[in-house]
Amino acid sequence: MSEESEPALKLEGVVKRYGDFQAVRGVDLEVPSGEIFGFLGPNGAGKTTTIRMVAGVLQPSGGRIRISGHDLASEPALAKSRVGYIPDRPFLYEKLSGGEFLRFVAGLWGKEADQVQDRVDRFLHLFHLTEWKDELIESYSHGMRQKLLITSALIHDPTLIVIDEPMVGLDPRSARILKDLLRRYVDEGGTVFLSTHTLEVAEAVCDRIAIIHEGRIIALGTMDELRAEADAGGAHLEDIFLKVTGGDEMAEVVASLRNAVGPSEVGSAGVG
Ligand code: ATP
Repeated sequence: MSEESEPALKLEGVVKRYGDFQAVRGVDLEVPSGEIFGFLGPNGAGKTTTIRMVAGVLQPSGGRIRISGHDLASEPALAKSRVGYIPDRPFLYEKLSGGEFLRFVAGLWGKEADQVQDRVDRFLHLFHLTEWKDELIESYSHGMRQKLLITSALIHDPTLIVIDEPMVGLDPRSARILKDLLRRYVDEGGTVFLSTHTLEVAEAVCDRIAIIHEGRIIALGTMDELRAEADAGGAHLEDIFLKVTGGDEMAEVVASLRNAVGPSEVGSAGVG
């Protein structure tokens, strides 16, 4: 079967155990090309663990992950070459300049700097990083690091972008640019798999959403489908999140999430 006829991402019975503890408890998921798919859940739900397994940096304890039909376990090089991964706690070489870092990443993908220069310049310009490209990364703010990282993840022209908490640390302008960039990317046939604990981000950015709780998907669909499932016509996703997950415990989680909205997340609330 050709890559095009395969889903961009497919998870079958994916499990992750840390010792006796099951962080991810049998996740099944199919994301077609051209979709922004969001993984939404409270802290500790299993989002980062799942994202890291899809990115190929953490091995599942069970189940199977396919990227455009390529099995991550049996065809790792092919599968990973299709993925651009943007982690939530990235590692950047502080003593390199932004430009040097991007050339380094291009080299890891076997590309010469001049092969990717146009692409890199376009993103640096878009993110207002051009004048910073020769400065050392150690002088970059959190938001600038995030933008550099996004650029580095797009260098090899991946078909699937995997992002853990994409909007955290970005100012409203950069959050808007990233949202537009992701939309343009999927309009051109790319696919995005992202995690967020921020309801506004899921609602504003994603075509479909899976709500994950204690390692299991407990609801999945478009906003309208989730609304129908929660029997809450016209409700805001936050209400749906509460209704679908239910229980006082989840109400406390949502309330504390609301209280925990800091300056970095205020920007994401404006992504609409
Ligand atoms: P957050 O929003 O806080 O990042 P999350 O949904 O991304 O949460 P994960 O980081 O995937 O959640 O963690 C899921 C569960 O697995 C949590 O209970 C966490 O404590 C546990 N966990 C994660 N990594 C490890 C590890 N290396 N060893 C043991 N337990 C772990």
